[in-house]
Amino acid sequence: MNVLVINAGSSSLKFQLLDVDTREVYAKGNCERIGIDGSFVGYESIASGGKRRLEVALPDHKTAVQHAFDIVKETGKDFVGIGHRVVQGGWYFPESKVVTEESLGWVREVAPLAPLHNYAEADVIETCRELFPEIGNVVVADTSFHYNIPERAHRYALPRDVVDRLHIRKYGAHGTSHRYIWRAAKEFLDDDVHKLVSCHLGSGASLCAITDGRDMDTTMGLTPLDGLIMGTRCGTIDPATVCYLQREGGYSVDEVDTMMNKQSGLLAVSAISSDTRDIEEAATRGDERAAMAIEMFAYRTAQLVCGMAQANEGVDTIAFSAGIGENSPTMRAEVARKLAWLGVRIDDEKNALRVDEVREISAPDSAIRVLVVPTNEEYMIALDVAELLG
Ligand code: AMP
Repeated sequence: MNVLVINAGSSSLKFQLLDVDTREVYAKGNCERIGIDGSFVGYESIASGGKRRLEVALPDHKTAVQHAFDIVKETGKDFVGIGHRVVQGGWYFPESKVVTEESLGWVREVAPLAPLHNYAEADVIETCRELFPEIGNVVVADTSFHYNIPERAHRYALPRDVVDRLHIRKYGAHGTSHRYIWRAAKEFLDDDVHKLVSCHLGSGASLCAITDGRDMDTTMGLTPLDGLIMGTRCGTIDPATVCYLQREGGYSVDEVDTMMNKQSGLLAVSAISSDTRDIEEAATRGDERAAMAIEMFAYRTAQLVCGMAQANEGVDTIAFSAGIGENSPTMRAEVARKLAWLGVRIDDEKNALRVDEVREISAPDSAIRVLVVPTNEEYMIALDVAELLG
């Protein structure tokens, strides 16, 4: 059963056509720089014979969707529906839902919590409905998996009338990835996993505590700014810093928002780059700020692993995933070293291997199993679409 998955950002639109039964990908691509000069579509499909790059004007998401559909059409494959990754589902999407007039309205209603993403994805959903009224659409929200975490973990200790009126709570993010990581770990370990700490470490990064498939807690909060230090995001800081920056630093609300989301994190600490590849290279050359960026990232990750283990009341498996988690043996080793007091031991040879599949990297005497799990959010989204529309 084939499904088209669409993931729209503020200026990009990723798409993938895949078969949920065989996991074969027939076409995938990314429309980049939408609404900006120098836009293009990079793609690869069973019809293209390798990677292609179309230099085309992409004035809006609608044009991008049309290009994506043209590329998908060339494969000659039909699909049962379209799955849309929605960053913020708010209080309306405790699970994936078929798009109707009403549910499309919900995506827009909760958009102030993720303005860069939700409005774009809502426009894309509307475009898909307009262009292809016969094809069903499904909203798969990144927040769904986290919606049922226990109240003690999702409630903010602010006045009840305020949190109720403004729907303030921990929503988390990367839920689709954490859900996939749980599934893949369970499959790999023949069901022998009960208390998992899932570490999605990419340019955005979050951890999730999962007990027998139930989400117990996660490190992102009302927005994806909370928790771990990220490429350009500061992660958890004393909330009073925000008031202090405005009162004493003279920064406006928007300036603080931009600072914390775009100018902080690994980029700020290393003063080199938001990309761990550049930072690791600089650290090996003896750059002290780069070394501190790695140290802080690993320290905070290890600290949050312990927090998630508490949410699970135990941990039998730790899984590393996403750009850094899948590709940086240095960071994995650093995190594991910091967790050595818990009995975590990794096998250096296994950790150094570069293969794109689920694998165990812990040493035989490790008290906790450590896995590397390449995440696959598109597959998870496609499964939901197949279930709802297949
Ligand atoms: P993601 O957001 O999951 O695509 O992750 C992107 C991030 O992964 C990049 O910004 C890099 O920091 C990191 N990354 C990707 N490849 C490597 C690598 N080989 N070594 C270290 N970090 C990597």
